[in-house]
Amino acid sequence: MQSLLKHYRRSIALHLLLVIFGVYFLVAVLVTVIQLYKEYENTKTEFYNEIQTLPSTFGKGISDSVWTYNQELLQSILQGMYNLPIVVGIKVDTLDQKMDFQIGAVFNEQRQVEYYDPNGLPTEQILTGLGSQALFDHKFPIYYQGPAFDQTIPLGTVTLYSNDQLVFERLKYGFILILINSIIKTCMLWFIIYFFINKYLGKPLKEFTLKIHRQDPQSPKPIDLAINWTDENELIILKDSYNQMIQRVNKNQLELLQLNQELDEKIKARTQDLELAKEKAEQLAYTDPLTKLCNRRAFFDSGKQLLNQAGTQHFSISLIMIDLDNFKTLNDTYGHALGDQTLIAFADVLKSSLSSTDIIGRLGGEEFAVILPDIGEYEALHVADSLRQKISQIELTHDVSSVYFTASMGVTEKPLRGTTIDLLLAQADKALYFSKHHGRNQVTAYSTLAEASGVR
Ligand code: GH3
Ligand code: MG
Ligand code: MG
Repeated sequence: MQSLLKHYRRSIALHLLLVIFGVYFLVAVLVTVIQLYKEYENTKTEFYNEIQTLPSTFGKGISDSVWTYNQELLQSILQGMYNLPIVVGIKVDTLDQKMDFQIGAVFNEQRQVEYYDPNGLPTEQILTGLGSQALFDHKFPIYYQGPAFDQTIPLGTVTLYSNDQLVFERLKYGFILILINSIIKTCMLWFIIYFFINKYLGKPLKEFTLKIHRQDPQSPKPIDLAINWTDENELIILKDSYNQMIQRVNKNQLELLQLNQELDEKIKARTQDLELAKEKAEQLAYTDPLTKLCNRRAFFDSGKQLLNQAGTQHFSISLIMIDLDNFKTLNDTYGHALGDQTLIAFADVLKSSLSSTDIIGRLGGEEFAVILPDIGEYEALHVADSLRQKISQIELTHDVSSVYFTASMGVTEKPLRGTTIDLLLAQADKALYFSKHHGRNQVTAYSTLAEASGVR
């Protein structure tokens, strides 16, 4: 029942069918009622007419039997009349009251119904099975018109009783025919309406909905329906509109996809640019722009890291501090540009002479420092002296003349336990100071100063 209700709610064909059927049924009932009423009226008229023809048929026989006091004949005539389907009762009233007789349902003086059997005896039984409802009567007089007299002699009256229900009885058959006719017509109409609405509307709509459901939301495709209509009806227009919308959606989606791709590419390029800029900024933050060596900050950071490592892994570390000799004079004599060239050439010699694990930094101006991991002071002295020699051989040209320069250095080694980069720098600076004051262009070890002053 529930599934039928669900189907009813879902099916246009069934819904329309029930609406149409409902309206049709009401109209059919109305028409049938009118038709029945008309039939009833006609049948009733026929009925009265039939009753009115009875006196002419039976009147003569009744008159004769009353005139001759033939009780037997009167009784058999009345029984014959009583057997007619339109008669439910007969009452004969004679003037001398000798031949009074009643059969079936009749009215007494008080218009109450009384029942008599075919022999004229009162009975309680309802003989016709129709009861006394809607009992009506038709009275006609009886006369004797014999050959011996010129005039007619009134003998009394005969009252015929009939019943409205007999009219209905007669109508019953016609009514059943009308009803069967209506039911067959309605069922046929029902079936035809359901079949065609379902075929031309329900099924295509169902197919359309199903195909929309099955669409891939990412790339919906135009839908084709299995109906071979060429007319531009509502369903075809609906399908075409849907397909046009799908085309527009697909076009927009494609444009969106392209825009997305472009945006992706732009974001990628922007990210790359940013990464490059970040790298550059980092480089700038840690690199001396003139010599491309570590700047003071980078030198201190890397130096601290290396010192920590050396502390935990127990390897030696040496530090060389370098200051170019009389650089101010060089600048003043040959110009600032040559001074810059000198700094660059000096840095290049450092880079090419030292290993990649060494930390080379420009601490400021013409002051440089190198940290040598895994190297003791003795070895570091050799490295420094070799550098000093290489530096003194760098040839710079000014106009046509060659220019040479030298550097002074101080070397120190990390003690076994605890030290800082500042301490090492201070020690190396002391050694460097010593080199400056003892003629420049030379290397001094901090340990020799300490030994000389008796401090270690
Ligand atoms: P000393 O031998 O005692 O070290 O004498 P000096 O002249 O080298 O020492 P001083 O510290 O007096 O002079 C350093 C000069 O270095 C001063 C400055 O003009 C020069 N200078 C510092 N930075 C730069 C630079 O980036 N480029 C150039 N061309 N000169 C610089
Ligand atoms: Mg100097
Ligand atoms: Mg200096």
